[in-house]
Amino acid sequence: MAFITRTAAQLRSEISRRGPADNSVALVPTMGALHEGHAALVSQAREENDLVVVSIFVNPLQFENLGDCEDYRNYPRQLDQDVALLSELGADIVFAPDTEAMYPDGQPMVWVRTGRLGDRLEGASRPGHFDGVATVVAKLFHLCRPDRAYFGQKDAQQVAVINRMVADLDFDVEVVPVPIIRAADGLAESSRNQRLSSTDRQHALALSQALFTLRDRAVAGQPLRSGEISAQLRTTAGVTLDHLEIVDPATLEPLADETALGRPALALVAAQVGPVRLIDNLRLEPPAAS
Ligand code: AMP
Repeated sequence: MAFITRTAAQLRSEISRRGPADNSVALVPTMGALHEGHAALVSQAREENDLVVVSIFVNPLQFENLGDCEDYRNYPRQLDQDVALLSELGADIVFAPDTEAMYPDGQPMVWVRTGRLGDRLEGASRPGHFDGVATVVAKLFHLCRPDRAYFGQKDAQQVAVINRMVADLDFDVEVVPVPIIRAADGLAESSRNQRLSSTDRQHALALSQALFTLRDRAVAGQPLRSGEISAQLRTTAGVTLDHLEIVDPATLEPLADETALGRPALALVAAQVGPVRLIDNLRLEPPAAS
């Protein structure tokens, strides 16, 4: 059974009790409502480390109005079910603080700023989101002092931001990106999928299908014509497109030339479907050299 800690002091004492200095410690940060995507992160962390810590914290700083919004209030919370799954997956410690334990003064005064990397794409529609993410991840890194931290490629911009934070602020941690887990119909697994009706879910498939079309064009050496695919998504029933962009995977700067890929790129999409905002992405590979 995974051991549940609720405060920073409990977490620290449990890690030092179980983890002699030479043991490797993994951290998997999550917001709970766990699904197959999270399970992939925890399983990989379990294989590669001695001690696996999973945090479950719905971080208000990364939501609109610092959490004073519907998305935060409606975010699914199911701690008992999550702890049962984490125990099955072999996690050692669950860190599930309440907001008061993480932010005793209501919110921190000093934040991590993510700059241009955090202002684009998701950050353009959700101002301050990545500053909130980076700030809580910095706190979790300090509390847990992991050797490795596992993040899903599902949140590709988050991976880019955390990589950059680790490099710029000299965190001594290896960031391990884990591939996206999709349902059989192609939809990327997400805690927010719980809030989709079956009709919403059918509509949502247009997002992954748009990415698959781009992947097929890229590998066939065809022009990507993302504008054409965006236009289709804008007329797709039930989908309100926010953005579809093709970017450099590390810098997230838009691709200058979509006629043919010379190196790998990343296609990212975000849209409102029914009550939730969904994001997805796919790596685009250039044609294999013949
Ligand atoms: P969240 O609970 O949504 O904050 O996600 C916690 C971690 O799980 C993040 O690193 C996500 O990128 C990752 N994750 C969420 N969904 C998936 C998925 N479908 N495949 C892989 N990783 C995922």
